[in-house]
Amino acid sequence: RAKKSIGEKICFYESEMDEASRMRRTMARDIWVALEQGQFFLNYQVQRAVNPDRVTGYEVLLRWRHPELGLISPAVFIPVAEECGAIGAIGDWVLENACREAMQWNLQPKIAVNLSPLQLNNVSMIDRVRNVLAETGLPAERLELEVTESALVGDKARALHILQEIKAMGATIAIDDFGSGYSSLETLRSFPFDKIKLDRSFISELETSRQAKAFVRAILALGHSLNVSVLAEGVETEQQLAVLQQEGCHQMQGFLFGRPETLAILAETRSLQAIDLAPDAVATTLLA
Ligand code: C2E
Ligand code: MG
Ligand code: MG
Ligand code: MG
Repeated sequence: RAKKSIGEKICFYESEMDEASRMRRTMARDIWVALEQGQFFLNYQVQRAVNPDRVTGYEVLLRWRHPELGLISPAVFIPVAEECGAIGAIGDWVLENACREAMQWNLQPKIAVNLSPLQLNNVSMIDRVRNVLAETGLPAERLELEVTESALVGDKARALHILQEIKAMGATIAIDDFGSGYSSLETLRSFPFDKIKLDRSFISELETSRQAKAFVRAILALGHSLNVSVLAEGVETEQQLAVLQQEGCHQMQGFLFGRPETLAILAETRSLQAIDLAPDAVATTLLA
């Protein structure tokens, strides 16, 4: 009987794995067509400073509306894109369209664009960023790039060079998901970050774990003495907000402040409070 149930379990896992790998194959097959046919679109999630209360930026979050699979999360399809060699083209698409949309809507705060580690493997990234800024007219000061520490496990010297050149243009760099995965103080020491994004896992445990609170406190102190701003990710409740404020965290992002949405929806629901919308730009975007 025990044997049978183990057998059933194995079958269950196998069919689940089949399902997952079937989905990955489908995604890998369709990803280039998706780019051509405009199945990708961008959501934006507000980032706020709480004291004084103002919008500091919008994080750009990629979405794929697949004709058969429906809406797919970037947590699922970005790894596929990295594996099948499409991440460069997708990364370029995100950067270009985020800058263009920010200009169309006359978005005043920064946009924060996520980079795949693979995008820091090639020095051509420097010219890509320069060209996109020139072509769209977005001031470099309104662009932030979010990189995870895994971005820095390959050729560190090259990644550092690329980030320094991009910073020299006037853009800023944030370290994403700090405290998860491979985080080390060494990375913070050797890379020119302007912002630390504190991983959501600390925030979700803030009310229940003294340890999580101690880490948050320590990272805030570190940010403070390094003169680097710290943003808490994934803030969902008023209680979390209260604790973070009490600990001196100034910047936050999470469902409490707003869900990721398209700029069109944010404008429609009047969620774009701190930005100017150029009237003619709104019209052309709605007609496009
Ligand atoms: P991330 O950069 O850490 O983005 C934050 C994720 O947390 C987003 O998930 C966002 O929707 C979610 N989030 C925001 N606030 C809350 C909250 O209060 N509670 C909870 N539970 N979640 C919250 P999303 O949009 O599914 O993106 C997942 C990851 O995919 C991103 O994590 C990022 O690593 C990657 N990603 C997204 N867009 C891009 C892109 O254009 N390029 C690359 N290379 N990666 C991207
Ligand atoms: Mg991010
Ligand atoms: Mg993050
Ligand atoms: Mg993440």
